Amino acid sequence: MKELEREIQEHGVGIGKDVVKVDSFLNHRIDVGLATEMGKAIHEAFADAQVDCILTVEASGIATSITAAQAFGNIPVIFAKKGETTNVSSDVYTAQVYSFTHQVMNTIRVSRDYLQEGMKILIVDDFLANGEAVEGLISIARQARAELVGVAVCVEKGFQEGGKRLRAEGIRIVSLAIVDAIEDGKIVLRSEEA
Ligand code: 5GP
Repeated sequence: MKELEREIQEHGVGIGKDVVKVDSFLNHRIDVGLATEMGKAIHEAFADAQVDCILTVEASGIATSITAAQAFGNIPVIFAKKGETTNVSSDVYTAQVYSFTHQVMNTIRVSRDYLQEGMKILIVDDFLANGEAVEGLISIARQARAELVGVAVCVEKGFQEGGKRLRAEGIRIVSLAIVDAIEDGKIVLRSEEA
């Protein structure tokens, strides 16, 4: 998606060999106009499918999930909660997710009240790296016997294994931008023609 690629190119910062910092428009300050366009692009990519609900994980997946949900006609967004929390009932689906950015294991939880058998779920997140977050959300959807329509992410890091593994499992993945490498702090994007 051109607007997102332009933002990454102009304002993204490559850290080391594998971290893409996009705090100025996605992960700390949110560019609402861009978020709205990303939501529309996700809807367009899955316009042929029935989607009842978007499933994401707090916190950075929520903004794009909301704009995508609006594009689908205000369907609900469920976000998995991380860590111990008193305000989620004990009747939950859980999954273990290793955080690439924080290098800790998180338990993510979704109340059983909100996911029903047969519900058609689209998973949305900000980044796809090793695929841990998405796998955790897929596990929760499966526990609920919900139907996975696919996965949409803003940025896929093509040099990490998550996207490859999930596609090999037959899961439909849509990435609005793909980063192929970070070279001396410069973010190398995959061109759309590639
Ligand atoms: P995965 O679970 O696929 O390994 O990593 C995806 C999760 O880690 C996303 O939810 C995202 O929040 C975070 N993440 C992974 N890599 C990056 C990155 O390069 N930049 C940022 N900002 N977040 C990342």
